[in-house]
Amino acid sequence: MSDVIAAVSTGMCVSAIGIIRLSGDGCAAIADKVFTLNNGLSMEQATNRKQLLGQLRDKSGRVIDQCVAVYTRGPHSYTGEDTVEFHCHGSPAVLAAGLDALYRAGARPATRGEFTKRAFLNGQLGLTEAEAVIDLIEAETADAAANAAGQVGGRLQNTLTPIYNDLTDLCSHFHAVLDYPDEDIDDFRLEDYSSTLRGNAKALYALLQTYGQGRILRNGVAAAIVGKPNVGKSSLLNALAGYDRVIVTEVPGTTRDTVEEVVMLGKTRLRLIDTAGIRDTQDRIEAMGVERSKKEAENADLVLFVCDGSEALTQEDQDVIAVCADMPNAIALINKSDLGAKILPSDLPFTTVIHVCAKTGEGLSQLADVVDELFAGNTPCDGSILTNARQFDAIARAYESMLRGLQGLQLGLTPDAVLTDIECAMEAMGEVTGATVREDITARIFERFCVGK
Ligand code: GDP
Repeated sequence: MSDVIAAVSTGMCVSAIGIIRLSGDGCAAIADKVFTLNNGLSMEQATNRKQLLGQLRDKSGRVIDQCVAVYTRGPHSYTGEDTVEFHCHGSPAVLAAGLDALYRAGARPATRGEFTKRAFLNGQLGLTEAEAVIDLIEAETADAAANAAGQVGGRLQNTLTPIYNDLTDLCSHFHAVLDYPDEDIDDFRLEDYSSTLRGNAKALYALLQTYGQGRILRNGVAAAIVGKPNVGKSSLLNALAGYDRVIVTEVPGTTRDTVEEVVMLGKTRLRLIDTAGIRDTQDRIEAMGVERSKKEAENADLVLFVCDGSEALTQEDQDVIAVCADMPNAIALINKSDLGAKILPSDLPFTTVIHVCAKTGEGLSQLADVVDELFAGNTPCDGSILTNARQFDAIARAYESMLRGLQGLQLGLTPDAVLTDIECAMEAMGEVTGATVREDITARIFERFCVGK
């Protein structure tokens, strides 16, 4: 028996339609207390999954909306339980009054993600699919949405299930060998076990390798703008953002902390990080900024080195170049092209050098093309990409356990030692599929959802 939960699923803002959702045993009876069907039937008698016109009443019985209700009997609903949805006019006042009436009729407020949590607990969704639901809701680009939609459709689960099943087979065979040593169960086929483990470890490795792309898909490309003070880093960030995100002054070293801004450059979503100027300094506060700049550049997916093309390169520029020129995906931007060009592309040890002007926007479309070539369009976005840090961590642990098991087999360790590693791998994979996930972790996963989902 589950109690009846209620929430607005569409958000409390003015819109054409607002949906109040109700789920749990007895939700039709609760709906009947606040909703009168125009066809004279009660909700209990209503046709399944059909739009039913009627009147929603507030706590005093006054009609607050003429709206549509849909009754879906479990288990063929999102949560797997009996569910009623009221499709109201999207007025926050109507939705609040409707919700209040439902609470008074016996429903209780749903907690964050409780509808999806029930779907998971009732076996309607696997954990990877449930987690993908929130990624889909939060997706900020079409590519991120497409990947999440693929995972809601079971893509990740389908990759992991055969691996998990293979490990289960291995475990049961090991147990049989250990528990019934006198029985003539297939002999201990070392080569078969090794090749099963090796093949599956390889599949997990390939999955882990997609996480770099997945992180970018989810968070955008982390792009650090580096360069000595006053070369136009903040101006460049402002030009890319399309508005004055950062205060620009003529005093060197004014951007003391890092500033982040998410922008679309061409087809790529960039998380631009404007760092304090990388330079040697005695100033303590600025020195902290300098350290952070170096770190940001090291952690970035893309480094944009900026210099002032109206002046010759200085030692300070060279020091920054030394930090970043060899980093993967480092692009040099010779800024202030409106003031002449004292620096030539051949002066800079970067594969890609572009003349830009933060003031006029010149060169930025060329930068967009280069960035798109590096990052856009080479991700499949069908759900096969791992985007979630928790899942990455668990699969990495499963992979390491499988490698240890493989090593154990090769070293001729006893089956029980190898079995421990395989069981560890299964445990870690179960954290992703939901088979062995701890309740506190599940709770934390669903807390990321909004109320009403
Ligand atoms: P940062 O210290 O590297 O972040 O540099 P700022 O963005 O604060 O810019 C320093 C100075 O250079 C400011 O006075 C800007 O107006 C100026 N500046 C930045 N970009 C350009 C440009 O493309 N052309 C010209 N003429 N001035 C620029």
